[in-house]
Amino acid sequence: MRKHSVIIVGGGLGGATCAFFCSKLGLDVLMVEKDQFPRDKICGDGLQAPMYPILKEMGILDDVLAVSFPNNGLAYVDSRKERAVMYFPPEIPPHYSCPRYIYDAIVNKAAVDTGIDYMDNFEALEVITRRGQACGVRGLYNGSLLDLECDLVILANGSHSMLSRQMGFYEEDPDYVFYGLRGYFDGVRGIKDESEFVYADIFRDGGYVWLFPEGRSEDGTTRCNVGVFITEANLKDLDMTMEEILWWWRDNTKTGDQRLGKANLVGKLEGWRLPTGKHQAVHSAGVMAVGDAGNMIDQCYGGGAGTAMISGKIAAGIASEAVKANDFSKEFLNKYEDTIEKVLGSFFEGVQIWRDHLFGKPETVIEFVDYVNSGGPGAMTGYLMSKGIELPAEPYSSK
Ligand SMILES: Cc1cc2nc3c(=O)[nH]c(=O)nc-3n(C[C@H](O)[C@H](O)[C@H](O)COP(=O)(O)OP(=O)(O)OC[C@H]3O[C@@H](n4cnc5c(N)ncnc54)[C@H](O)[C@@H]3O)c2cc1C
Repeated sequence: MRKHSVIIVGGGLGGATCAFFCSKLGLDVLMVEKDQFPRDKICGDGLQAPMYPILKEMGILDDVLAVSFPNNGLAYVDSRKERAVMYFPPEIPPHYSCPRYIYDAIVNKAAVDTGIDYMDNFEALEVITRRGQACGVRGLYNGSLLDLECDLVILANGSHSMLSRQMGFYEEDPDYVFYGLRGYFDGVRGIKDESEFVYADIFRDGGYVWLFPEGRSEDGTTRCNVGVFITEANLKDLDMTMEEILWWWRDNTKTGDQRLGKANLVGKLEGWRLPTGKHQAVHSAGVMAVGDAGNMIDQCYGGGAGTAMISGKIAAGIASEAVKANDFSKEFLNKYEDTIEKVLGSFFEGVQIWRDHLFGKPETVIEFVDYVNSGGPGAMTGYLMSKGIELPAEPYSSK
């Protein structure tokens, strides 16, 4: 295999977005992926508005929306079982739910269709370095070891990336590592088109049950992506399995019984471990990490699909500058880290404020639900301001 300018490891949302924009910027790119698309990804399937401009630029927004279900508001249920619903005003686009099995395949195809070189069934094992500078990727391909050469490696192979760990990007804190369990349920009651977050006394540090609608049935019930999200520290204290928590919630809480009491699990429950919250180094000499491989997952809700795509696009821009300058040094790539901080820093700062003052404790969720139901203006921002806490000026600025 000939040497490429850029090798992207991982063909998921972060990697494929990065590959798409690298290709549009005229770079010589190879994307490698261990799986074959379509492939599943355990997720709540929630797409947030900051992804839409990127999808539009990629020419696939309509394709994605055609297979997505609109969620027109957010509902919060507190541990007393009180519920607050906030519908999006007309100027705000709805959130959408799209099974990742379908969504990721559309994004991956958009990248491949630009004409990049693409190898699936290639499992990257390590970054090859020479005199402290990355110069390629070693991996398993058709059962044999294969070395691929390049000037710049972009790691987009998701959470628990061994290659990010090899580069020293990886650091874990049990208060910021979440476990997620996800299942699809038919016949969910009490939900129409709101994405619902349910808090119970057993959760702390931002843990919750989510129910994201993905379709309506003729009998008026909803098909939902349902899951439990809980920190490693919280899970350890509870001494329950993730499945036990979900069934406990269904069998012992009023909301759980209303939602899932008569619902049917379609397929099986699947779990995943998700480190969040530590945004340490995401680059070194000849390497940049995007999306989950760079821990760019919000430390309150665990959302990371949007940040994966945003960081993938940013990495492509910096890769283009590095290729033009023929400079892949750590110093040159500082630009990547600086841009990530500029674009996503205030978002992560805002999310930490939500976690510290709002969703981290059952009592503050109760106060928030009461605030919304008493007609308090401005939802989360208004609630936090009523307590003298200000969010950063421009959370989630996606330039
Ligand atoms: C339970 C749960 C619920 C979530 N819910 C939401 C949600 O509702 N909304 C949201 O925005 N985010 C959510 N997230 C987070 C979201 O799924 C991730 O942030 C997002 O998928 C990150 O995209 P990525 O491209 O960085 O990584 P991934 O989507 O993980 O893609 C990585 C790709 O790299 C490939 N790969 C892995 N290792 C190798 C290797 N060694 N060599 C080659 N290829 C490799 C994988 O096969 C995969 O295709 C959730 C996460 C979990 C765990």
